[in-house]
Formats: sequence, C-alpha cells, structure tokens
Amino acid sequence: MVRSSKRSCIGAAPSGSSSGGNRKDPVWKHSVEVEVPGGKKHYVYLECKYCKKVIKGGVKRMKHHLAHTKKNVAPCKEVPEDVTNEFVDYLSKGTKNKHLAQAQSDERLIQVPILIM
Ligand SMILES: [Zn+2]
Repeated sequence: MVRSSKRSCIGAAPSGSSSGGNRKDPVWKHSVEVEVPGGKKHYVYLECKYCKKVIKGGVKRMKHHLAHTKKNVAPCKEVPEDVTNEFVDYLSKGTKNKHLAQAQSDERLIQVPILIM
C-alpha cells in the first residue's frame, strides 16, 4: 500500500451509487470515476489514483493501464509493482474464475476461527 502524504482533493464524483456500475471490480480501488462535462455521457472516464491519468473507455482499459499490458493504453508509470502484478494476474485469469475464487475465499474465512482454537 502506498500512501501519499499529500491529499489532493480531486473533484471526485459525489458519493452514492449514481451510475450503478460494477463496483466490486478491483479496479475501483485504484481509480476513481470522473465526469467530463460535455463528453460522451455513456463513456466511463476513470482517473488513475497513481499517475492521475484519465482513461477513457472504462474499467477494462484501466486494468490494462495498471497491468502494463500496453493494450490500447499507455502503461502506468506510478503504480506500485504489487498492484501491477495483481492486475496481470487478474487479466490472465480472466473473469471466468472470479466467482469461483470469491466462493473459495469465503470458505477460508469461515474455517479460520476454528483453526485458531
Ligand atoms: Zn496510472
């Protein structure tokens, strides 16, 4: 986790579920949605929390930005290596295994208290 000492207030979107996107996506931990007045309303603009680059075209491109795949988007220069690895891993797995992985981690959480005793 990289914590910047300076807290810059970037005109973040108002709290609340305005657009109702898929907020479970890990990409939201590393970027914020931005609204661009006069832009194409149906596009999601994402601002990278690390390099402040605004990515047009939604979460998919932001993932590629963070994962340094260089697919249709410039790689992030500021993102920590472990985050890059997380997204490289995420993209290589694809979305197929996402639900499975979540179910497995839920099971592990339930088992942990028993093991501690
Ligand atoms: Zn970036």
